Amino acid sequence: MEIKASKGTRDILPPEVEDWQLVEETSRRIFALYGFREIRTPIFESTDLFVKSTGSDTDIVTKEMYTFTDRAGRSVTLRPEGTPGVVRAALEAGLLRRLEAERFYYIGPMFRYERPQKGRYRQFSQIGVELLGSAHPAADAEVMEMALALFSSLGIGDARLQINSVGHAECRATYRVALREALVPHRDRLCPDCQRRLDVNPLRILDCKVPGCAALKEKAPSILDHLCDDCRTHMSRVQEALRALDVPFTINPRLVRGLDYYTRTTFEVASGGLGAQNALCGGGRYDDLVASMGGPPTPAFGFAIGADRLVMLLGAVVEGQRARPACPSPADVYIVHLGQAGFDEAFRAARALRSRGVATLFDPESRDLKKQMSRASACGARYTIIIGDSEIERRAYALKRMSDGIQKDVAAGQWDEITREVTHGGQQRVGA
Ligand code: ATP
Ligand code: MG
Repeated sequence: MEIKASKGTRDILPPEVEDWQLVEETSRRIFALYGFREIRTPIFESTDLFVKSTGSDTDIVTKEMYTFTDRAGRSVTLRPEGTPGVVRAALEAGLLRRLEAERFYYIGPMFRYERPQKGRYRQFSQIGVELLGSAHPAADAEVMEMALALFSSLGIGDARLQINSVGHAECRATYRVALREALVPHRDRLCPDCQRRLDVNPLRILDCKVPGCAALKEKAPSILDHLCDDCRTHMSRVQEALRALDVPFTINPRLVRGLDYYTRTTFEVASGGLGAQNALCGGGRYDDLVASMGGPPTPAFGFAIGADRLVMLLGAVVEGQRARPACPSPADVYIVHLGQAGFDEAFRAARALRSRGVATLFDPESRDLKKQMSRASACGARYTIIIGDSEIERRAYALKRMSDGIQKDVAAGQWDEITREVTHGGQQRVGA
């Protein structure tokens, strides 16, 4: 029986993994500039956490969770999204009673039982941030601008920001009535899920991806016409702040998100380069979530970027420009050894060079000079060092620069000198 990767999961191999590293390193660097620090929470949590925060009527909770019973009979779930775990962790550590807003980011796998397709997987990775403890519209703008700063520093030129406001609970209650009234006459054209949603949670219909339901969105009234004064003011302050930062955006009054906890601002960043699954990042304000989880009233704002889609885009951008960052060679130095003494010395030499930061490989299996030399060039090593009986006797190794074949002797055991030779400073001097 041949065992394959599970449906909706995949392996990330070199060189793609180097794009992942670039995305992760760039995210860390940008987020740090905005005062965000990393938080790492467990991959699984008690199922209740997601039912209570993500929302019991969301697709995520009703259809997509990987839930199982552990050996002691507890119901646990592989996290489908990051926010609930971060809020739980912050509450558990007592972090939310401070004056300053807390700024966290996370990078890691999420799990949703979805229909796998390009850009949609069952295990995927999100890069998310949560700003806990500010109600100010400037916080919304600052965090959205940060997402765009990340995309632009990765060279993604066509990231488009759409914003909306879903108001607070009372605005939504009046909107829900209006939305229901507008859609009831079209009940028959809704998918079975949305027919049920029409009665329990009509806002969810706006997020349905079934084509018939998506078409009916046109008939939906605008939630922006149902905002209370405070929510309306918040929305216009967010827009002012974005304009002040020169961040282009459009308003999409039908943008609701697939999670129950959002209040006021919601947003999405999409890219034309992605095809059907074009959402790169989604998020918004969640002013009531922390309190609903038993914490102190803590207005908050966050987003999650789909890292798989970001890496996909990056691959396209980089290919277009033919500027993929040079894939680091696995070895600066390949040690070719001959005879038992040569092998013993190769082992010590590798350790000595590695401890000085020189990436070093050698092949313990092979005793054949030609084979070792061809492996050295196959793996892209920049230098080889040849160590055999005669080299050990002479107390000098042959150091060969692979790019032009120029060879010179270096004194045995002089690791610092050899390190200098094989790192930039030494390059000119070889063979000179
Ligand atoms: P979508 O509309 O694509 O289903 P979503 O509204 O479910 O996205 P969020 O829960 O807000 O998305 O997650 C934020 C981002 O995570 C999305 O914009 C997307 O880039 C990414 N994402 C969500 N689900 C998946 C998945 N199954 N596979 C890969 N990326 C995903
Ligand atoms: Mg989804």
